[in-house]
Amino acid sequence: MSGTSRTDMLLIGGGVASASAAAELRRQGFTGSVDLVTREPLAPYHRPPVTKDLLGPGADRHDPAVYADDWWQTHSIRLRTRSAVASLDVAAHTTTLDDGTVIGYDKALLATGAGIRRLRVDGAALEGIHYLRAPGNAHRLRKEAHGARHAVIVGGSFIAVETAASLTALGMHCTLVMPEPAPLHTAFGPTVAATVAGLLRSRGVDLVCGEHVSAFAGTGRVGEVVTDAGRKLPADLVVVGIGATADARLGATAGLTIGATGGLLCDAELRTSAPDVFAAGDVCEFLSPIHGQHVRVEHERHAQAQGVTAARGMLGKPAPHAEVPYFWTDLSDWLRLEYVGAAPTWDSERIDGSLDDGDFTVWYELAGRVVGALTAGRPADLDRARNLIGSPFTRPTPC
Ligand SMILES: Cc1cc2nc3c(=O)[nH]c(=O)nc-3n(C[C@H](O)[C@H](O)[C@H](O)COP(=O)(O)OP(=O)(O)OC[C@H]3O[C@@H](n4cnc5c(N)ncnc54)[C@H](O)[C@@H]3O)c2cc1C
Repeated sequence: MSGTSRTDMLLIGGGVASASAAAELRRQGFTGSVDLVTREPLAPYHRPPVTKDLLGPGADRHDPAVYADDWWQTHSIRLRTRSAVASLDVAAHTTTLDDGTVIGYDKALLATGAGIRRLRVDGAALEGIHYLRAPGNAHRLRKEAHGARHAVIVGGSFIAVETAASLTALGMHCTLVMPEPAPLHTAFGPTVAATVAGLLRSRGVDLVCGEHVSAFAGTGRVGEVVTDAGRKLPADLVVVGIGATADARLGATAGLTIGATGGLLCDAELRTSAPDVFAAGDVCEFLSPIHGQHVRVEHERHAQAQGVTAARGMLGKPAPHAEVPYFWTDLSDWLRLEYVGAAPTWDSERIDGSLDDGDFTVWYELAGRVVGALTAGRPADLDRARNLIGSPFTRPTPC
């Protein structure tokens, strides 16, 4: 199909950032036309269940859709699935889809998210090596996990750790391999990482820390994972969870400015460098009043909140995006960690409660000021942290 059409608001991308922008446009009383274009076969869905509920025993009953099927029609939003935007002409205010359809717009949102980072080592093309980003990835992994015994999971951050917990709960023997000294070390520091390591080991997960995967071995199908220390780990299947990179290709080829993390560079109101083009979610590298610098955040609530900010900007009601980032991570039903804040670095940690009992808050501080809080089982501390961090962050002047 090709042709031309026009819309007032064009939302590019089928993730939660786009979906929440669509909802906010209608919530604000906007009655003009709204088109949401996504290259995926599914309407917008939540990704967090991909490493959690969709790997668990109730997976078949879990629906990750953001809205019910009829929501799009009842809100008069034209949902174009299986439609990749091939190019964007910011001067002409048009996009061209991969089938040649040209869509003109008044305002556009780029919410193209992030893409999987691939591990390019010998044997990377063998069968049985999985990456997790969409529900279909989880369904395939779950099917293969049935009847398999040993899983090797590559990575030491959220995706890998959550997957190891979920597959262990399904009855598999899991080995986590990571270059970091312990799981979640980069995000939460050594104290929490040691606790997470202890929890995983107590549930039967083997940890191989401080080593990189250097190859996958097998005939047709992966049978072994090899590390740079020469270790050989048997594997019936492998999951690689080594992070994601901003998918800013569409914006970049349209000439939009790209930031230091590879995202679309935006001001505090989420405007890109092109007129009438906004960005939100994983792809958006914005000038954060909270951080006092440009940042890009890859968390679901943040993407949803930015969809709201961007939608208001598209309606001519711009405001700085000043919500303190929040995210959670679940290790099966063993432990839920929730984090509020803006702390890529900190210089001290203060702990309330007991890490061993899974009932604690770690307060991360920089130059005597709280910049983040991680909690298990203490939700009231999340609000306390928001209040402490919420005022714009002034960076300490170097001595
Ligand atoms: C497995 C997994 C588990 C996660 N768990 C958690 C969690 O527990 N807690 C948490 O806070 N966060 C979690 N996250 C992160 C969270 O899901 C993301 O931050 C969030 O999905 C970002 O939403 P988004 O809308 O910005 O981007 P995405 O969800 O990446 O959506 C972008 C969309 O744009 C589409 N697109 C891209 N380019 C084009 C184009 N040219 N044309 C048309 N469509 C295009 C893509 O196909 C995709 O549909 C998880 C992520 C993953 C992958």
